[in-house]
Amino acid sequence: MIARLSAPELLSKNKFNVDEEEAHIIIDKAICARCGEKACLYICPAVLYKLDKNGEMSFDYAGCLECGTCRVMCKDKGIVKWGYPRGTFGVNYRCG
Ligand code: SF4
Repeated sequence: MIARLSAPELLSKNKFNVDEEEAHIIIDKAICARCGEKACLYICPAVLYKLDKNGEMSFDYAGCLECGTCRVMCKDKGIVKWGYPRGTFGVNYRCG
């Protein structure tokens, strides 16, 4: 019988080649501060959007799955840049 992996276990199989010189997603924290819903906190499957201890939005593009959900759901346009990583960078999906 093949073991069924949980979502966190599956996500942990992915590899990332992080582009340290060019972020493919950039947020404007001042806009995020004015946003009421902050949908990004709930919809990012990689849980990359967080509030720090001061209540300020923090984001790290390093573990991005490139799904595009935050781009669609960012109502107040706090995401000022969204693109795919440059060639050879980003997530490398691995299927178990
Ligand atoms: S593209 Fe997807 S995984 Fe990447 S930050 Fe946005 S919601 Fe999270």
